[in-house]
Amino acid sequence: MDTSIEITAYGPGAERAVQAAMEVFRRVDREMNNYVASSRVSRVNASAGVSGVEVSAESFDVIRGALEMARRSGGAFDPTIGPLVTTWNIRRDATAFVPPSPEAIRKSRSLVDYRLVELQPGERTVKLLRPGMALDLGGAAKGYAAGRAAAIMREKGIRHGIINAGGNIVTVGDHPENRGWRIAIRDPRDPGAVLGTVSVAGQAVVTSGDYERFIMVGERRYHHLIDPHTGYPASNLRSVSIIGPDSFQADLLSTAVFVLGLKKGRELLGAFPGVEAMFVDLNGRLHFTPGFVAKYSWEPVQ
Ligand code: AMP
Ligand code: MG
Repeated sequence: MDTSIEITAYGPGAERAVQAAMEVFRRVDREMNNYVASSRVSRVNASAGVSGVEVSAESFDVIRGALEMARRSGGAFDPTIGPLVTTWNIRRDATAFVPPSPEAIRKSRSLVDYRLVELQPGERTVKLLRPGMALDLGGAAKGYAAGRAAAIMREKGIRHGIINAGGNIVTVGDHPENRGWRIAIRDPRDPGAVLGTVSVAGQAVVTSGDYERFIMVGERRYHHLIDPHTGYPASNLRSVSIIGPDSFQADLLSTAVFVLGLKKGRELLGAFPGVEAMFVDLNGRLHFTPGFVAKYSWEPVQ
């Protein structure tokens, strides 16, 4: 998944629970990573415009969930973002980055459309209807895997644990000292600095931000969260952090809300009771949904 995974568990059986949880990430990566040619998702992509490909029940659920979020967000989240991600090729090691031409962006954008994915639940097949289309589940697979991994830890009797998959955090129960887990929210413009901490137990905390993967060209920041409607990196927010009971849903929402921005993002979140958010806007100002502060005791860094 091109990120570091950190899993912590306390109590009897912790060692084995962590191993089982780690195995979930390996499995999800094997099935859903479109940068690995042998993955099922890569095969779906290779058969775009030609035929449907059978996928695992798990991959089918993730793709279905991603398409559902695409509909609910009006396409701000779109799991067929693959061609645009490839065209932008935002990587950490970019030395000679040149932004793609408007023509290349237009061409890729025309291949991004969640409505052109055909699911056959009976056969569990996924078909991309046009040649050149490509699924990219980077905005959802980590959250899905982290949620499943946390469920397995619970099944194995773990009552205090935490998973951090590259900013996708899931807590299992509360902290062993019988308090909430204090989750730091990063300052999007100061690596290593935090804006504050939020205390949660048994919840997921997922952040999407323009500082996770980006390239600076002069003053311009090109990052990895792309607005499917423009074909360019979304430029409404610096980051958004979502708290919710379901890690997969929180991951889908973090990406969707980042692209939608403050106003439309709040509207979307209104349809998800029990989900709270914190936004950092382009001026560095913080915005919260009411429950983020009330329910989870936010402590800003003074
Ligand atoms: P996240 O950190 O969860 O917001 O996911 C970021 C990743 O999601 C990117 O690296 C891309 O793989 C993918 N992505 C980028 N833009 C979008 C989008 N508009 N909809 C769905 N996935 C996206
Ligand atoms: Mg996400």
